[in-house]
Amino acid sequence: MRRSRSMAGPEIASIPESLDVDRRTSADSEGAESSSATGNTDQLGHGHFFTKKSFHKPSYCHHCAEMIWTLIGVSGYVCEVCNFVVHERCMKHVVTPCSSIAAALIKNPVPHCWSELIHVKRKFCNVCRKRLDDLWCFRCEICDYYVHAECQEFAASNCRECATYTPGKEPAQIIQYHHWSEGNLPNNSKCASCRKSCWSSECLCGYRCAWCILTAHPLCRSTVPQECDFGPLKKIMLPPSVVTIPRTELPMETIIGVLSYRKMKDKESKEKESGNEKETRTAISEELSSSTGINGKDSSGESSSSKERKRRKEKEREDKEERKERDSQKEERRSKDKDDEEQDSDAEIVKVFDGNSSMRRKVFRTITVNRNAGAKEVVEAALRSFYIKDDPGNYYITEALEGSEERTLDVTTPICSMLMKEDSRERPSLFLRYRDKDPNKGFIKVYPGNLKSSQGYKSIPVTSDTTVDDVLEYALRKFGLGTTTKSKYNLIEVTMDNRVTERVLSHNEKPWRIMQQIRKESIHQMLKTRFYLQEKEDPHGSTIALFIGNLPSNLSQRQYHGILMGFIGDDNPFSTIGIIYYEYGSVVIIYDNNDAAVRAFNSLKVAVFDDRNLLVMLLPNIQAQLLANLKELTPLLVFVNVKSGGCQGMELIASFRKLLNPYQVFDLGNGGPLPGLYVFRNVPKYRILICGGDGTVGWVLQCLDNVGQDSVCQSPPCAVVPLGTGNDLARVLRWGTGYTGDEEPMDILRDVIEADEIRLDRWTVVFHPDEKPEGEVKAVAACQVMSSSTAEDNTSMFVMNNYFGIGLDADLALDFHNAREENPDKFNSRFHNKRIYFKMGLRKMVKNRSAKSGSRDLQKEIELEVDGKHVDLPPVEGIIILNILSWGAGCNPWGMEKDETFSKPTHWDGMLEVVGVTGVVHLGQMQSGLRSGIRIAQGGHIRIKMRSELPVHVDGEPWSQGSGQVVVLRSALRATMLKKTKIKRRHTTEVHHSVTEPERSSS
Ligand SMILES: [Zn+2]
Ligand SMILES: [Zn+2]
Ligand SMILES: [Zn+2]
Ligand SMILES: [Zn+2]
Ligand SMILES: [Zn+2]
Ligand SMILES: [Zn+2]
Repeated sequence: MRRSRSMAGPEIASIPESLDVDRRTSADSEGAESSSATGNTDQLGHGHFFTKKSFHKPSYCHHCAEMIWTLIGVSGYVCEVCNFVVHERCMKHVVTPCSSIAAALIKNPVPHCWSELIHVKRKFCNVCRKRLDDLWCFRCEICDYYVHAECQEFAASNCRECATYTPGKEPAQIIQYHHWSEGNLPNNSKCASCRKSCWSSECLCGYRCAWCILTAHPLCRSTVPQECDFGPLKKIMLPPSVVTIPRTELPMETIIGVLSYRKMKDKESKEKESGNEKETRTAISEELSSSTGINGKDSSGESSSSKERKRRKEKEREDKEERKERDSQKEERRSKDKDDEEQDSDAEIVKVFDGNSSMRRKVFRTITVNRNAGAKEVVEAALRSFYIKDDPGNYYITEALEGSEERTLDVTTPICSMLMKEDSRERPSLFLRYRDKDPNKGFIKVYPGNLKSSQGYKSIPVTSDTTVDDVLEYALRKFGLGTTTKSKYNLIEVTMDNRVTERVLSHNEKPWRIMQQIRKESIHQMLKTRFYLQEKEDPHGSTIALFIGNLPSNLSQRQYHGILMGFIGDDNPFSTIGIIYYEYGSVVIIYDNNDAAVRAFNSLKVAVFDDRNLLVMLLPNIQAQLLANLKELTPLLVFVNVKSGGCQGMELIASFRKLLNPYQVFDLGNGGPLPGLYVFRNVPKYRILICGGDGTVGWVLQCLDNVGQDSVCQSPPCAVVPLGTGNDLARVLRWGTGYTGDEEPMDILRDVIEADEIRLDRWTVVFHPDEKPEGEVKAVAACQVMSSSTAEDNTSMFVMNNYFGIGLDADLALDFHNAREENPDKFNSRFHNKRIYFKMGLRKMVKNRSAKSGSRDLQKEIELEVDGKHVDLPPVEGIIILNILSWGAGCNPWGMEKDETFSKPTHWDGMLEVVGVTGVVHLGQMQSGLRSGIRIAQGGHIRIKMRSELPVHVDGEPWSQGSGQVVVLRSALRATMLKKTKIKRRHTTEVHHSVTEPERSSS
């Protein structure tokens, strides 16, 4: 099960004097314990295995980032395990821990949120410290940790913790620490302490706080104050201390929605390929469920239901495929490495398995040993290959042969003479085994997790017969919690593999036997398995909200209930329906039990209704009561239309997830704006950043209209990052014509912080079609998406933010539309259901128009009335009614000239401007800025009588509208927008440093 610990501690908190292996005898239990529990890195040391090396070409010191080159007389060392390179002179200052002990330094493991397999240039692996170039790798979407695919299993689970709310904690007790992640710093990063450069393009070096983007040298970090204030984004950061996510086995990716988008993309491509939808869907569901499987724990044999076993099996299969790829990659790298290193001909490559499970899964490491090497040397090499820092005396090796007895190898004879068989073309393989000092008793370490008395782990003596119950009692006493509270705690087994998985132990399980079992299966896994005390009560509380989308719209509550229960099953009912968004076919259901919620999640995510896959999300919770005290804080809710503007949306969302709390960043491809608005419904004050086209802005505003009354903050101000083309509203608000990718996401967020609030009038466009015979109502049917229309009178209503056009201008909208169509964007538009109708309508219209000769007679087909007065129309082919003074991607149809008749228009004056277009030539001139439109009228209430079917558009979304009456009136729904200020600012890092400087001097 995924853990969701609620303590933002510094990642290096308790320092064990050796690894998390429970091998100590009774002699070293207590005394050593107390000193180590409160110790620091110095006591453990950095853990590297340094050996002297001659650097024949320029290399760089991972500590100080300066050059090492033996030829010019500078000597250096390299760590045999993690390739940490260091000057001789820097060696005594090294504080960066070796990859072999990084995991042991973690107090509360937090899993990374891995990207898909990617290629990255100019970055370094956080495990083996080598370049990632040309090799498959993973990136953490939250903290910028990078690993080679083959290094992933050795990654330390030390990601940024983004949901740390602890009930009962006073605001004064909440301390946010920096989260230091190593290396891959932005170019020209300067150290916050010594002001010197602390980045390198040549090696993994320097540290960066994943919250406040402060950068520092390894050693200088200790002089920077420990507390983190979130740096330049503190005004809009959603603090982790107010967020909870339920303790479930669901990976983080499913909560912040990284995974689901990826799967959706997969699905689309798969569907295209196979055409067999049903099969594809099951395949995906399996894939999804297997990805939540418990990695590598396949044979601990404890209480695995058949379902779980199946899942693990799938996981293994998946692993196998992945491994194939990695193996070939490994081979490549080895030959590459060989070129670098001088190899002696007596070297032999040996496969090492670290346990039975690894053998079954065919996961091994390879080591290169001299043919004459003894067992001890081989053990040492094997330990290093698994990033294990431990006394080799605790290990031994055996020959691993599939299907035959394991043979222990003699310590004195050279290893290869025993292993090599002339007829075998296979590489020799070995088991690395752990030597039990006494198989019947030992010590286990119990960590306190997020208990209020936060200390280091405690060693608990156990025998083969000690039960979890006994351990609980003993541990509670040692942590000073008293055994009377035993019923409030669980002992959990936590495994820090590439996800952090946890399992609640039942009271009669035997921890010592569990450890023995795991170590037989995989030593690597044993080292990453721990026991934690955990309060039974989840800090998230007992309400778990699931958001469900893609249901049909406008059903009754009973119908929604029926559909959902049909998928979930009667044996697992939810406790309540949280809210129903009828217009959107979306429902939030509430469970009061984590396991039940996960079961429902798993059933719903594979459910298909009306040929659509249901969308299901597990929502985080914001403890809004804590935000009321933080007056200077206005958290930002970020919506990204990932599919807008090519892949720019993808880049932006990745950047924002890293810069902010990922729980405040929502992908609109994942249920639209509603999940985010639901999560923020109790936040007293917040701002919204919408990344997408004007259509996306309209979509978010429209959802805000709908959820406003249920939210504490009814009209949060909205800023825009324009994606794609058009973007008239964004232009008017100074957010630019379209994001180019050149702008730093950090600068965008600073602009949002500084932006001014401004009101945006909004308008309701009501169409009352004339009574028509059958078959003529298609346009109306098409409009029902957002209408509050009643079927009887065919009236439909739209909210208009930008402009409304009739005639020629709507024709032009087709061009916009087609342009957008090139970046297919199903979700971009609140009108998407109408696409088909509109296309038909336009084709028809074009035909009609070409049939009619001399179509410059719109004035004969429509009648215009402004504020109750009839207005005579000049000869025009189209009219445009404007709320904002930008149209057609940045033109101003109203024009700049002064005019006595009309007042200067704004988008908050309660007035609309009506302009006319005489023809295609005029339209072209307007587009190129040579002419403006013909000013016709200005007013707050517009009525138009349409005598025939005409093309119309609202905010650039066109269709063909039958004859009837159109009324445009001011909507009660007003929006507050954010307008970018004109002030230019200096470069990002400079500003930040000038902010942090006073803090340093005061500390
Ligand atoms: Zn150095
Ligand atoms: Zn090392
Ligand atoms: Zn690596
Ligand atoms: Zn991470
Ligand atoms: Zn920080
Ligand atoms: Zn420094």
